[in-house]
Amino acid sequence: IVRKASNLSKQSHILAANVDLALLVVTMARPETSTTFIDRFLASAEAYRVPTALVFNKMDDLSEEERERADYLMAIYSNIGYTCYAVSALNGDGIDALTRDMQGRICLLAGHSGVGKSTLLNRLVPEAHAKTAQVSEAHGTGMHTTTFSELFDLPGEGGGSVIDIPGIKGFGTFNMEREEVAHFFRDIFKLSANCRFGNCTHTHEPGCAVLEALENHQLAPTRYASYLSVVFKIAGPLRGAVNVHSWCEHKVETAGPPFRGIHLTDAVSQVAVPRGGHRQGGGESRGASPKSPRSHAERAVGQAEGWDAEAGAG
Ligand code: ZN
Repeated sequence: IVRKASNLSKQSHILAANVDLALLVVTMARPETSTTFIDRFLASAEAYRVPTALVFNKMDDLSEEERERADYLMAIYSNIGYTCYAVSALNGDGIDALTRDMQGRICLLAGHSGVGKSTLLNRLVPEAHAKTAQVSEAHGTGMHTTTFSELFDLPGEGGGSVIDIPGIKGFGTFNMEREEVAHFFRDIFKLSANCRFGNCTHTHEPGCAVLEALENHQLAPTRYASYLSVVFKIAGPLRGAVNVHSWCEHKVETAGPPFRGIHLTDAVSQVAVPRGGHRQGGGESRGASPKSPRSHAERAVGQAEGWDAEAGAG
């Protein structure tokens, strides 16, 4: 797993090599992990052929609505084929199942800062005594961030180890061609076998099985929005797909109660480039002075850098 530097130095950081299982730690709140971030992580892991599972942490500290959302997302990802663990690193709930599956494997622990990675590491490897991040109430983000990767042996007879990697701010889409993106979204890839056209972009084509599934609520709108965010980041907005922003939001609104609490803002703000090229609709730009559209050159730089703050801000 390679991280490209977010500065202009064109540096890449090798985060971890020879990983048997990448565990992405996510939280529904304080801070909220966006579905775009989850999906980009999963897509990148697919591209590098690293098996991935999701660890929903802080399950002891959720409102009813947040819990409903967590259950819904776990249903979505389990359905696609990703193992999901509901845990509380703080009180130990659900840790046994996770520990069992980690035995004998080299596991990677990834996630935003503030999702409780250090607390989880302390649970998994009591000897690690990793500094537990104190989540700042004011900012909802971790104050302490690991800045380098560390490897710890797992306790128990099964062996295995866990690599703690620095808090991730964003996940890029480097080394991906636009035509390839659908290959790395398992659910979309599966559906695309039934598209009428072999070169279907799944944005506007007649006979598109992906759009049909979205219409019938067989494909999660959050997954589709993430797919679009990656495609448009690589290729720019595609002709015929200019109204996707409001459309995706509509899909989320009509999909049922659990979706209403899910924020698509970071996904759709990248998607919302209507005719004329001005960005609109993204929560980040609301109330601010109009920004000029990013030039192709700027977009190319963002793509080359791979990492971006916007995907991880949520
Ligand atoms: Zn299609």
